[in-house]
Amino acid sequence: MIRFVIFVSYGNDSVALIQWAHEQQLEDVAVVFTDTQWMADGWAERVDRCEEWTRTLGFTPYRTTSIGFRQLARDRKGFPTQQFQWCSLVLKIEPGQRWLAEHDPDCRAVCLVGVRREESQDRSDFPEWLVKSMNHGGRVMLAPFATWTADQRNALIVKAGFEVLPGRSRECRCINSNRKDMRRFTDNDWAAIKEAEAEVGRNMFRPHRHMGASGADEVRKWALSERGKYQAPTIVPNAVELEDAPREEELTGAGGKCDTFGGCGT
Ligand code: SF4
Repeated sequence: MIRFVIFVSYGNDSVALIQWAHEQQLEDVAVVFTDTQWMADGWAERVDRCEEWTRTLGFTPYRTTSIGFRQLARDRKGFPTQQFQWCSLVLKIEPGQRWLAEHDPDCRAVCLVGVRREESQDRSDFPEWLVKSMNHGGRVMLAPFATWTADQRNALIVKAGFEVLPGRSRECRCINSNRKDMRRFTDNDWAAIKEAEAEVGRNMFRPHRHMGASGADEVRKWALSERGKYQAPTIVPNAVELEDAPREEELTGAGGKCDTFGGCGT
């Protein structure tokens, strides 16, 4: 029987939420990782470590499956964008809904999310609980960190024996990655992005938002440059530079996009 469900990426919020569930002595907890098959270099090892840890707490780890980011981009002959972020629906939300329908067909489970109101203006009135969360198929939803600060969350991460990560989780080489996120990409990450761009025949990151940087190699140079210093080989009209705000602040939490279940970047 499953009584509680936590959708995770195994970033900061995920670890804190699992630790919180443990300290509340919750039982019959399912911890569900949404695998987009587009994990950044090294993240798979973190997933294994976190799943091992959840087992020691008496919880049960699961993984959802999907077509995967790269195949999806091939099928759609393009990459998703912030405006048209269809990857969220296909790779995270729908697999999560299928998982819930299969494992909790009577909708009795309570879904936990790690949203904090201070994360952004959008989340400033996020409810601490909902009797029927439509994002969770009409199940009860609890957001125990809704009124918490990052420091309170971080204290749980440390108690769990994990380090607080400096940025968003890396379960996906996200199309929304900013300069700080990209600086954490490894050679393997850039090689995978370059291969995907070659397969799809398009840029994964839009040049006009990266000072005209076109293609993985140039975007990498942009990411490694200081703000305003990158010079594109060709001038792109109206090119601007993305802000360096941590994506974690922008991507975690409340509904509608990748984070509907609390599993994107969290
Ligand atoms: S993490 Fe980014 S790339 Fe991955 S599914 Fe979510 S929005 Fe899309």
